[in-house]
Amino acid sequence: MPDIIQLLPDAVANQIAAGEVVQRPASAVKELVENAIDAGADKIQLILRDAGKSLIQVIDNGGGMSLTDARMSFERHATSKIRKADDLFAIRTMGFRGEALASIAAIAQVELKTRRHEDELGTRIFIEGSEVLKQEACSADTGTSICVKNLFYNTPARRNFLKSNPVEMRHILDEFQRIALANPKVFFSLYHDGQEVYHLPAAILKQRIIHLFGNNYNQRLVPVEEDTTIIKLHGFVGKPEFARKTRGEQFFFVNNRFIRDAYLNHAVLSAFEELLPDETYPLYVLFIDIDPSKIDINVHPTKTEIKYQDEKAIYAIIRSAVKRSLGRYNITPSLDFDQENSIEHLVTTKPFEEIVAPTISFNPDFNPFNSESKIEREIPFLRNTGEYRKSPIPANWDTLYEISKKETTLQQQVYEEKTIVADEQEVSRPAERQLFQVHSRFILSPIKSGFMLINQQAAHERILYERFLQQLQNHSGVSQQSLFPQSVTLNSSDFELLKELLPDIRALGFDIREFGKNTVVVEGIPADLSNVDENKLLETLLEGYKNNQSILKLDKRDSLARSLARNAATKSGTKMSLEEMNLLVDQLFACQMPNLALNGKLVITTFTLNELLERFEK
Ligand code: ADP
Ligand code: MG
Repeated sequence: MPDIIQLLPDAVANQIAAGEVVQRPASAVKELVENAIDAGADKIQLILRDAGKSLIQVIDNGGGMSLTDARMSFERHATSKIRKADDLFAIRTMGFRGEALASIAAIAQVELKTRRHEDELGTRIFIEGSEVLKQEACSADTGTSICVKNLFYNTPARRNFLKSNPVEMRHILDEFQRIALANPKVFFSLYHDGQEVYHLPAAILKQRIIHLFGNNYNQRLVPVEEDTTIIKLHGFVGKPEFARKTRGEQFFFVNNRFIRDAYLNHAVLSAFEELLPDETYPLYVLFIDIDPSKIDINVHPTKTEIKYQDEKAIYAIIRSAVKRSLGRYNITPSLDFDQENSIEHLVTTKPFEEIVAPTISFNPDFNPFNSESKIEREIPFLRNTGEYRKSPIPANWDTLYEISKKETTLQQQVYEEKTIVADEQEVSRPAERQLFQVHSRFILSPIKSGFMLINQQAAHERILYERFLQQLQNHSGVSQQSLFPQSVTLNSSDFELLKELLPDIRALGFDIREFGKNTVVVEGIPADLSNVDENKLLETLLEGYKNNQSILKLDKRDSLARSLARNAATKSGTKMSLEEMNLLVDQLFACQMPNLALNGKLVITTFTLNELLERFEK
């Protein structure tokens, strides 16, 4: 039998390897912009078409390349940034693997134009599927311009795998934001399909954050600064009252490289202690400067993970520094400054055994939507029997109200009278039903076996959620036109997300038009929502949506319906008339799953007479 192992042709090997480095347009953007940063540019323009699918162009005013280097740059493992294995431990540049250009050229049509300051003429190279088509001298500005067209043109399977333009654009904006934050002294502009999305003049970090996230961030930032022998730390944390429901605004940079690190994240959060409202995430943009020999960034090709020595010390420094900043800005008045003052001292003399790495425990099998059987057990009489119902109220619903009249107190009688009045107008309502509002939060209703308590906000959320889901399916949301259409300006990534969701958002009854850069005009909102601030509504809707998608991994429509329902529901603390309570109860029991709150908890709980009697006998 002949030998069967053969070396793959370069082009094929490159295509395969390219998959590691370039998964989507955003990865190519990241690599190209980082190359421009490494080349010392202080002005970088990014031009995109079709969310980078048909064009990614990066123009920089950095050092440029010689003719030979230009040609070499497309070879695999060709890099000017490290020469020997030891250099891996002294990395200060973003790139070092020498894989990006080779990978991009393997799966796209690339034109590179570059000139060094000292050269009279520049070089232009056309390369496609790893094959150099043309190379010529040309006149060119100092620096490099690289055009990447039709990414994945020769790997259709990958191309088909790409998501819609708004989704891909969001990935690009995520990468862009990180690089822009890490390099505030560099001017950036970003054009997409002919529109300028960002124009970021060179600035200090605080200004850059404001340019990226919006003017109102000016008041939200607290500076953090710490200088120790192990690390230097600087940046900003957001004031706790502006913490958001999503983690979108949390950035750690180690030697200017964006990283994700649950441990360090925990250090920051723990500094906030109980200052944060439940389930909210504070903004932070923190830069750690550390001796490169103390870290290993060669862990993953996409390079958002880092390993470091002195992990515990770094944790302690970050925690104390953030805590101290919050204290200094009067956010935590009760802090003990004496103790926190010398972090250096703390780090070098104290052992760190007491610091425990965060652990996250969760039940991977938990799915709130599988809990039908559980509901059945808890409130058997509330289950939908499955039969077709003419009235929205379950057939067995009235049986809840067979209460002996003798048991009613004077106060109940007052309510009862009102109930009867209401019943005369609306015959379908169970005549015996009694409803009381407790602390503007719960609706209490006596039932045959005792009484039940309904969490009014959870109930309303459930009702709206099921209604919105249905509207999404049938495109049946009714819009209520605004007298004064509002224009709403979002940040770029939210705007892209909104565009992606627009068909569904319209199905819910929003009447929204695009109106220039990052701006929409809201001409109508779902009829179920009233007295809301359009601006806030859209922002929180998108935020809730992101949250649902990233944490609960829900599908698109579910996330939307859920987010809108939680926003639009009447909040705890709202007084309700008897009429309103009746309506709420009717609508609740017309739901598919009346007892399942959107957070997976209960909407209704019951107390049996026996339980009550037992209490008195204790
Ligand atoms: P790496 O960045 O890991 O070195 P790349 O494939 O991204 O690998 O780039 C290969 C080489 O091409 C770089 O080391 C650098 O010398 C050169 N290069 C790439 N982009 C630029 C640019 N915009 N300006 C100047 N030189 C560049
Ligand atoms: Mg590179």
